Amino acid sequence: MNIILVGRPGSGKGTQGKVLSEEYNIPIISTGDILRAAVREKTPLGLQAREYMDKGALVPDELVVEMVVTRLQEGDCRKGFILDGFPRNIGQAEALDRTLSTLDKGIDHVLNFEVEHKEIIKRLSGRRTCRKCGEAYHIIFNMPVNIGICDKCGGELYQRDDDKEETIEARLKVYEEHTAPLVEYYRQKELLKAINGIGGVDQIKEQIINVICGRNNNSKIEG
Ligand code: AMP
Repeated sequence: MNIILVGRPGSGKGTQGKVLSEEYNIPIISTGDILRAAVREKTPLGLQAREYMDKGALVPDELVVEMVVTRLQEGDCRKGFILDGFPRNIGQAEALDRTLSTLDKGIDHVLNFEVEHKEIIKRLSGRRTCRKCGEAYHIIFNMPVNIGICDKCGGELYQRDDDKEETIEARLKVYEEHTAPLVEYYRQKELLKAINGIGGVDQIKEQIINVICGRNNNSKIEG
């Protein structure tokens, strides 16, 4: 099962991606997580990506596409994969289509997480992330047991530079301009499924599983 998660930053793709990865036992490939690890480790990719990420801009396609193409060819993707944060524009979607066709694979579902702009600002500005394992928390809606410490691994929680208010607006603008057109791209391919991104983790998980199993012919599209 090959799945793509699309939606505004902060719409819950990462959270549900992890949940679905466990449910279906397939890897989640988050380009944001891979890039953040590269920045942390100061690899050549990380050094190049950082200036774009700090501004909330997209990292150039040639860097990101190469990274994903390599990852998709690893053995654990044979049974399926979940892409979170990729593709981010039509060029990346086309590059993905070309790669999958050479690997004799296809996309089964594109889940579009619908959460409106105002809610996104609230979510992202309060988000705190574990430096060690990437787990996400929220200062009001999803607090860790001990302030500043990850419940899962004990790592330090921090506010991502790009979750600061001045950068959030830039990221949302980039989303509307470059990423939102993917909704139409995948709708035309009849792969798009709308997911209401408001609700609890379990509630949204159930909604997604129903959509994937075809129990709910959810074809409502919002641009
Ligand atoms: P995310 O964690 O998905 O919100 O990504 C954080 C940042 O990583 C983005 O704002 C971009 O700078 C960069 N990034 C992640 N995925 C991509 C992608 N597919 N194409 C270009 N840049 C990306």
